[in-house]
Amino acid sequence: MVHGGAGAMDNIKDNKTAVRYLESIRRVLEHGREILTLGGSALQAVETCASLLEDDPIFNAGCGSVLNEEGKVEMDAAIMDGRNLSAGAVAAVDNISNPIQLARFVMTESEHVMLISEGAIRFAEHCGMDRAPENYFYTPDRIEQFNKARLKHKVMLDHDDTENDSEDQKYGTIGAIARDSDGNLAAATSTGGIVNKRMGRVGDSPIIGAGVYADNETCAVSATGYGEDFMRSVIAKTISDFIYMKGMNAEQATQAGIQYLTDKVNGRGGVIVIDKLGNCASGFTTKKMIHGWIEQGGHAVVRF
Ligand code: ASP
Repeated sequence: MVHGGAGAMDNIKDNKTAVRYLESIRRVLEHGREILTLGGSALQAVETCASLLEDDPIFNAGCGSVLNEEGKVEMDAAIMDGRNLSAGAVAAVDNISNPIQLARFVMTESEHVMLISEGAIRFAEHCGMDRAPENYFYTPDRIEQFNKARLKHKVMLDHDDTENDSEDQKYGTIGAIARDSDGNLAAATSTGGIVNKRMGRVGDSPIIGAGVYADNETCAVSATGYGEDFMRSVIAKTISDFIYMKGMNAEQATQAGIQYLTDKVNGRGGVIVIDKLGNCASGFTTKKMIHGWIEQGGHAVVRF
């Protein structure tokens, strides 16, 4: 399963724009299918799918990330391996074209779970990752979106849901989750965060248990939405706990998680979930969420 962010998406009025989003999601899903069919692991599949989405400038991750209050890109990402709960995360990084790959290095090449800012960048260099030039990340749409948010003195979700801001609703955070034929689960989430955010603000995406979670005994989860809501409700781990403690399946746990998110913090956003048996589910409190899935090797389904 993959997602490309949640929100109102009123900007996606014309067919051409909608097709552009859905085709990108479909292409990435098929790529993930190929990896898994050729015997690749769930971890490989989510890292590759997340990297492809980071490379696509229509999404709010990697190239095309939203801008913070300084007009700069600061990205967060995390990856988790359901086999042993190992995880890697980076926060507030710039000039790294694929933060999800750096998160994977943190997981596999360091003894830590999360590195931030300058320390994460130094670690990227240590791992031999190239630094991308600043202009790689900026798109004209992002600059326009940032200027509008700044004029209104507000921070907002990339696909902001407020009626008055419908013209600003473009692009989105990305996530990928997978189950391979050995029954292993993995999850990855990557984002530029929210528009006009404070410098140094870290959202839910790199927080294990909030924006991402994977445990072979329960499920894999990737979230998108207002990070602050997701961090306070620890939504990804909460969904996993519904399975672990109450024996729910993906659909039941997702509905229970969305209910919890709403009741506790009136949270705005959504989640994609695959349970240990490979059942796929999604839920969101926003009007829409760009996402897609291939369940049990069947047809790819993509939708808002
Ligand atoms: N969850 C992300 C954040 O708060 C934003 C998003 O999903 O679009 O950083």
